Amino acid sequence: MSRSVNVAVIGAGVAGLCAARELRREGHRVVVFEKSDRIGGTWNYDPRADSDPIGVDPTREIVHSSIYRSLRTNLPRPLMAFLDYPFPKRENGGDSRTFPSHEEVLWFLNEFADEFGLREVVRFNAEVVRVERAEGRKERWVVEWKNRCDGCDSVVEDFFQAVVVCSGHFTEPRIAEIPDLDRTLDRFLVGSPGLGTGQVSGIEKWPGYQIHSHNYRVPEPFGGQIVVLIGFGPSAFDISRDIARVAKEVHIATRSPDVRVMKLANHDNLWQHTMVKCVYEDGLVAFEDGSSVYADVIFYCTGYKYHYPFLETNGIVTIEDKRVGPLYKHVFPPALAPWLSFIGIPEKDVIFQTIELQSKWVARVLSGKVPIPTEKEMMASVEEYYQQMQKNEFPKHVTHYLHFKEVFYVSSLTSLDFASHFAALMVFGGMSAVVGYSNWLAAEAGLPPVEEWREKMYVESLGNISSMQDNYKDQWDDAYWDSIINKR
Ligand code: FAD
Repeated sequence: MSRSVNVAVIGAGVAGLCAARELRREGHRVVVFEKSDRIGGTWNYDPRADSDPIGVDPTREIVHSSIYRSLRTNLPRPLMAFLDYPFPKRENGGDSRTFPSHEEVLWFLNEFADEFGLREVVRFNAEVVRVERAEGRKERWVVEWKNRCDGCDSVVEDFFQAVVVCSGHFTEPRIAEIPDLDRTLDRFLVGSPGLGTGQVSGIEKWPGYQIHSHNYRVPEPFGGQIVVLIGFGPSAFDISRDIARVAKEVHIATRSPDVRVMKLANHDNLWQHTMVKCVYEDGLVAFEDGSSVYADVIFYCTGYKYHYPFLETNGIVTIEDKRVGPLYKHVFPPALAPWLSFIGIPEKDVIFQTIELQSKWVARVLSGKVPIPTEKEMMASVEEYYQQMQKNEFPKHVTHYLHFKEVFYVSSLTSLDFASHFAALMVFGGMSAVVGYSNWLAAEAGLPPVEEWREKMYVESLGNISSMQDNYKDQWDDAYWDSIINKR
């Protein structure tokens, strides 16, 4: 027998919209709380930025979206769709490129919301400020939210049997690949005096401007400047090229220990280095490879933290160095399952596909059609996963990277021949973790495995990203991929 539950979904981005669709399909009653006045989350470009460009001031005014004006997707269009709802090229107008602009993704999400009548379940201008267990009630959760509609500004409490957290995790800057700012500062303090004329300083005394990629929108403010950009992912790739069009010099610093200092091919002013070793009061930035540069800007493309300020679970769910835990299969905290769940936590994967499959699984678990293991069994599974990570010496912060083995492997490589690294990566572990997870979710939700071309396309996309070739987004072989997809 199917059970219908009243569910609060927090956030109306990709995850919240997809969760709402699946929950309603399963006959649940759904309210989506969205703090802004629109759907689409991250994909709403906002020209404003946080009041603190580096994002460490807890009292700063926060802008949700981290996307920049020039952003195009880093996955091809077929992987930016849902399994049963493709992302078509528009007949008239729009951006028909295979790696389209952020505006096109937002258009697609609006189409999706309209197609499934999702707006009718969204409460806009409704920021959730507290989610806590409601003792002694049939509805297990109290959801406290700020109602900013129609000129009113009140705090309201509602009660729900289940809560699905879909609030995103690309808003709270992470300053370096080490856990907290103090340790980050320590890292910069450990310097080798004598390089420059100034004193080795802590980063707080370094006189230049610091910014995190969360607050980057357009390159113009960096015109004529010397920028040190720390990072290695798709955003670092895009932003370094974007800024290099107007900056005097851009120096990319990565963690790889043996990167050779060199100017990148096809660029007059784009350099690569190893990680920043220390900074000086006179503006000098020294790299671990022995090179140094007087810089105007340090630009952090160092990722984001998971952040759920509204969630009060008495320590049942914790966040430690990018590990949200314990979470069974990245979704259910065992002690609170299935009444609390998280959609969209995994990173480094086909995000739309994962979100859709997680949503289907959660919806069917809530309706009682799909059983989940006991709390003890789920905890054992989580522990086993943690132990496996520890045994392989993977750091906590890659807990939710679906192909963490491969990512960690790449980040520890020592030369910059990315094509051969990528080939090695495939031999090392392939995309088995991503595909394995998707197919596991599909099986739980009673669906067939995902089509093989999706995995192939994802592998090809990662290869392109790793190749670090400018213009890879415009060199995609559409005809080849169309033939593969149509062969099904
Ligand atoms: P979000 O899109 O962040 O949506 C969360 C929603 O929750 C927002 O609308 C927010 O307003 C709302 N919310 C948050 N807190 C509350 C609260 N307390 N109360 C009420 N509402 C709340 N993915 C790809 O697949 N391909 C790409 O090319 C790609 N490029 C990216 C580039 C950048 C620079 C970034 C930052 C991300 C990129 N991503 C990409 C990842 C992208 O975030 C996901 O595709 C997707 O948007 C995640 O959706 P989400 O619903 O989990 O989170």
